[in-house]
Amino acid sequence: MKDFGRQWRRIMVKLSGEALMGTGSHGLDARTLETIAADLAEAARRGIETAVVVGGGNFFRGIAGAEKGIDRARADSIGMLATVMNALAIEYAIEKQGRPARALSAVPMPSICEPYSRQAALHHLGKGRVVVLAGGTGNPFFTTDTGAALRAAELSCDAILKATQVDGVYSADPKRDPNARRFDALTHDEAIVQNLAIMDTAAFAIARENRIPILVFSIKEPGAICAALDGLGKATLVLP
Ligand code: UDP
Repeated sequence: MKDFGRQWRRIMVKLSGEALMGTGSHGLDARTLETIAADLAEAARRGIETAVVVGGGNFFRGIAGAEKGIDRARADSIGMLATVMNALAIEYAIEKQGRPARALSAVPMPSICEPYSRQAALHHLGKGRVVVLAGGTGNPFFTTDTGAALRAAELSCDAILKATQVDGVYSADPKRDPNARRFDALTHDEAIVQNLAIMDTAAFAIARENRIPILVFSIKEPGAICAALDGLGKATLVLP
């Protein structure tokens, strides 16, 4: 693996809500939050402009809400609010590490954080602040994966760092299939031909169309983001 930290000047990190649960079954784990915040702060300290899109699955997902009888659009609004909770927690945790951060929400709620605009995000990134993007795309029927790809394109990010629970992309679910094969690298087109679910379809289409590399790695170990940037450890690089 290469030293991506030298090639990529601006990155988009996608963190799922689950990444913040630690060993718990929901919500936020303070220790995990601190570890991930330290990792993000270190990336920014190295001079890499760092944006983060955070999910909300540790609190609420629209699909699960719809299954319980809540109208899907309404359930997705609740899901978007969940991402705002996570973004505020991450913003605070990064600042506790001595690094400035700004949460920007695609769903405007100016009394608790700045509304998202491309100009504001670029301004904060330019000042070395970690930009934490809340509210996904701001629209129901989307996911935060799509939010990450959309913002990565909009903010001209050099790559999307997709933090997951496994150490890369496999030919099948490695938890279920012992013969699943891990990829070190592949192209966006190969991923489509082989039907590999790297991000959801809409997100992947945006990344592919805009030729944005995706680095898929596990967030489980402390320092995983910077290790992925250094090209250490296992990861899968998806390139145009
Ligand atoms: N959501 C949405 N529009 C978006 C992004 C997210 O409506 O652009 C809602 C949706 O209900 C989703 C929830 O927010 O289930 C949490 O996001 P996601 O499922 O992507 O979180 P993750 O799985 O990454 O924790």
